[in-house]
Amino acid sequence: MKNPAAYYPHRRSWRSILLAMLTSVSLLLAHSSWRAYEAARDEIFRTEAGMVRLADSVAASQQALLDRTTQQLRILGGIYLSENNNPAACNRFLARQLGIFPAFDNLVFADANGAVTCSAHANTIPLPALLPDTTSPDKPLLLSMGSDGLALALPRKAIKGLAKSWVIAVLPVATFFQVNSQDAVFGLVHDGGLVAEYPANNARENRNPLFIRFMQALRPATATPLATQDGTDWLYAAQVKGSAKELWLLVRLPTDAATVQMMRMATLMVMALALAWLSLWALCSQGTAYLAAINWRRFDLAAKVGHAVATLHKRLRQIQWNKAQRFEGGNTELRVAYQKLKHSFADETERMRQITLLDELSQALQGCINSAELTELVARSAVALFPGSSGALLLNAASDMVELHHAWGGSTHQEAFPPQDCWALRIGHPYHAQQEGAMPCAHLRETHVDYICLPLIANGEILGVLHLSRLDGNPIEAGIPWAAESIAERTAIAISVIRRAEQLQIRATRDALTGIYNRRFMEEALAIEQSRAERRGSSIGLMMMDVDYFKRFNDTFGHDAGDAVLRGIGRLLSRTIREGDMPCRYGGEEFAVILPGADLADTRQRAEAIRTAIERWKPQDEGHAFGQVTVSIGIAALPLNGNSWQAALKVADKALYAAKRGGRNQVATGQATGMLGQPSAREPFPDGYSS
Ligand code: GH3
Ligand code: MG
Ligand code: MG
Repeated sequence: MKNPAAYYPHRRSWRSILLAMLTSVSLLLAHSSWRAYEAARDEIFRTEAGMVRLADSVAASQQALLDRTTQQLRILGGIYLSENNNPAACNRFLARQLGIFPAFDNLVFADANGAVTCSAHANTIPLPALLPDTTSPDKPLLLSMGSDGLALALPRKAIKGLAKSWVIAVLPVATFFQVNSQDAVFGLVHDGGLVAEYPANNARENRNPLFIRFMQALRPATATPLATQDGTDWLYAAQVKGSAKELWLLVRLPTDAATVQMMRMATLMVMALALAWLSLWALCSQGTAYLAAINWRRFDLAAKVGHAVATLHKRLRQIQWNKAQRFEGGNTELRVAYQKLKHSFADETERMRQITLLDELSQALQGCINSAELTELVARSAVALFPGSSGALLLNAASDMVELHHAWGGSTHQEAFPPQDCWALRIGHPYHAQQEGAMPCAHLRETHVDYICLPLIANGEILGVLHLSRLDGNPIEAGIPWAAESIAERTAIAISVIRRAEQLQIRATRDALTGIYNRRFMEEALAIEQSRAERRGSSIGLMMMDVDYFKRFNDTFGHDAGDAVLRGIGRLLSRTIREGDMPCRYGGEEFAVILPGADLADTRQRAEAIRTAIERWKPQDEGHAFGQVTVSIGIAALPLNGNSWQAALKVADKALYAAKRGGRNQVATGQATGMLGQPSAREPFPDGYSS
């Protein structure tokens, strides 16, 4: 039998050519589907990597939000303690805090049973059902409120695991998931349950098989799964570390389309390889003789196949480039989301820094004992909060004037001015001068814009103004910075507390009628001055003074006129004595004056000056003149007239009675030893006293 190829060489050639072409095409197809498979797989990997990075970032930003909220709650819990006494004021206080922290939906104070004591907005959370019976002190608790929001609750005081009361911040879920990228779906797991999801109502609910599988893997707590798969559906988790350890962020990646493409390309590649293998096998089975019969030159097959391969290769590169372009687009979205997060991170970091500074300020303010310390502290905090800024603290004085207490950073103001010179005091709200046309406050020595005056208001009382300008790096154009309002609020509360303490101190040491020191203060001061004088080897002058015939005065002009005279004598004493000397109301119409460092001669000179001043004084009340008032004064000195202040005071008292007996309106000097004194200038003095 003859070889059929010998009879039909052209047929054999065509068959071989066709088989060869089929092999080449299927190989090329396998190659291109392999490249497409690789590209789809890379896209999945890269998207996954990006999304995991994003998940970590979102988890970290949630952590920052939780920390910030916890810290803010801690400050709030400590700052306002009397909401039970005045719920309306407490509501207003919380509403103001909400203005400062717009990320919150609501702020609530609740008692141990979850009953709301006050809140910024009307509260709709069923708190008793959410709050636990026992808790650890200072441990924040995340409460789930359906798909709309979350609440963070902090026990204000927990004793033996029982919370005394709660401070609660309500956070909208959208605040918690600040990023929405590439249709990713976020969920939040706390204590084994899904507490929030974003966007709301997605497939990641509690009955979802993937979620169930994730929770099963999470429950034993030995494994910490980062990814769980169900078919082509993947769930990634990132832990929100720190204050709430059980908190996990879940992310479902939108990789389904890429995965399908990857699978399709893999299938295509397998089919093309099979076809190539089959055609190659058929080609080979025809034997080399068939191949030899092909007129290679005539068909120029090598060149044609080479060209086809080159064209296909070019096309393939084009496809890959297009894919890369598309991937770039996807990546841009990720990058934008990531950048957004980075910025919000920077904002959060700055906010945390400011909150920490404010917290430190609040604590330090609690330890302040006078306004001087307070103003110094506020100035330091303002500079730390707003580096490069200048400012001033201007406080209301008893004289109905506002006085400059402290200025920093080159801020210049009038030393004292009426309240209407400050726009903030006029309107009772922060005044923000930010444009050329803005009315400047008259208390500024130099007219400039871009400054804020914040009224210091506590318990409904305006106590002064905090002035801030040049808030470099914190453009005032963006509005009044929350930290400025916050510092003003804390300052106002601290001033109010210090003023109240100062008033109490005054009440405890001053006489209500005359405003000079009372007898209690006198005795304490004498004990201190005595030990000081003993250390220094110095002397203390003492005066005892009594108004002459005061009973008669009262009977003649009335008790009110008598009071006016006592007040007048108090003023006169304060004016006549030197700084450091202490005028006291000893009781009734009797006064005492302590003169640290004065010897008997000095004391006598001062007493004579006082006596003369009162003698020359023409007392009057509401236009009515009351004639003349005189006083008798007995003086003594320590240690000259005794080795204790009590003994010296007794000597001064005796001298006073000697002055009375000597005819009144005179000064008598107590004698250290013996009872004989010099004769009076006006009339002779009896038993041992001199005038
Ligand atoms: P003498 O010169 O001896 O001191 O005579 P006197 O009248 O001042 O002495 P006496 O002790 O008899 O009277 C003191 C009077 O001072 C009696 C009381 O009515 C009056 N007095 C004491 N405390 C006050 C006060 O707070 N207001 C007024 N208006 N009078 C007072
Ligand atoms: Mg008297
Ligand atoms: Mg008297």
